[in-house]
Amino acid sequence: MQNTPKSMRLQIALFGRTNVGKSSFLNLMAGQDIAITSSVPGTTTDVVEKPMEMIGVGPAVFLDTAGLDDKSVLGEERIKRTIKTLDRADIITLVCEAEVWTDAEEMILAEAKKLNRMTIVIINKIDLQAPTEEFINRIKNDYKVTVVCVDSSSLDNRDKYLNVFKQAVIANCPEDYLTPPPLLADLVPKHGLVVLLIPIDVQAPKGRIILPQVQAVRDCLDTDCACLIVKENDYVKTLEKLNVAPDLVVCDSQVVDFMVENTPENVQCTTFSIIFSRLKGDMATFDAGLKAIDTLQDGDKILIAETCTHHATCDDIGRVKIPRWLKRYTQKELSYDVCAGRDYPDNLRDYKLIIHCGSCMINRQETLSRIAKAVDVNVPITNYGMCISYCNKVYDRVVEPFKKSGALQ
Ligand code: SF4
Repeated sequence: MQNTPKSMRLQIALFGRTNVGKSSFLNLMAGQDIAITSSVPGTTTDVVEKPMEMIGVGPAVFLDTAGLDDKSVLGEERIKRTIKTLDRADIITLVCEAEVWTDAEEMILAEAKKLNRMTIVIINKIDLQAPTEEFINRIKNDYKVTVVCVDSSSLDNRDKYLNVFKQAVIANCPEDYLTPPPLLADLVPKHGLVVLLIPIDVQAPKGRIILPQVQAVRDCLDTDCACLIVKENDYVKTLEKLNVAPDLVVCDSQVVDFMVENTPENVQCTTFSIIFSRLKGDMATFDAGLKAIDTLQDGDKILIAETCTHHATCDDIGRVKIPRWLKRYTQKELSYDVCAGRDYPDNLRDYKLIIHCGSCMINRQETLSRIAKAVDVNVPITNYGMCISYCNKVYDRVVEPFKKSGALQ
């Protein structure tokens, strides 16, 4: 992997009315023409993503959204997508013009406040009209946000405005992004040994391993641990060859029953999906959501939520295996809807349970927004690895490392 995955970058979302210069501002920050800019309102039709290394800030991705007052035929759909971008924004950046303040600006700042997101207001086009002190102070005082004045008309000013914006980003960087929950660090001692049990089946991508596995390897190195990777057919023999017991075994959830059966009682073990439930989500809410499995009745609807759009195979984990395990455990006839990628339905109330994947393709903020939407309508939500382990009756064993570390009560 050459670049930091988008899901781990600071997500800076740009909002604003059409033609306030969001795309010009993005081009200025990037120092190149990325977004399509034009004086014709509504040129940005979908979210344009621009990954960028910001020295002093780190890897970031700018999300350039469509204008909030787009009156074109497709405008409503674009605005919906724009509003959805709020879910994943670590920092909301509202671009406006001097002395112009409309319902669109009000709406974004109201949403930012509701979602408790850090917000920067960019007063753009100051080369055309400079803002009055009164205008700047009113925004600062009424909304408690950082205000930055910018002229995006020429790349000549880039260094000056980039530095001012970076300072604003550093001052507004959310704590949750700066110090996210650990992946493995509190579960293993320094210089310990971690075994990663990775089956290579038809669903495994050709020539590589998937992101949660890559991140676990990197986390082992960051934690000064040795990491041994093995497929399930060599697992038992490999353990026998070791003259020290591993400090932790992490497996793909699909082989959790095999791992538990073949891992000595004194060795801690868990799954990739469960370690991601904490890194990307809220472990306690997912743990509480599991209880709903025991109350499911014939005909209940379950939402399977995946954040990648992989090609589903005949033995797909979300579409085939989880329904099979749930059927075996509950003995009930349940019905399923699957959402993938960035789709997350509005009709959450229709479901008796949401089962969410490890979210390796989206950022923590977006997963937390999804969890909050489920909690808002009292729909239990849990995680793939937790659900699979529960149905295989090995849940207590695989969450034990988190209970020991105090991460889960
Ligand atoms: S299903 Fe979820 S956790 Fe698994 S690879 Fe796709 S995005 Fe990552």
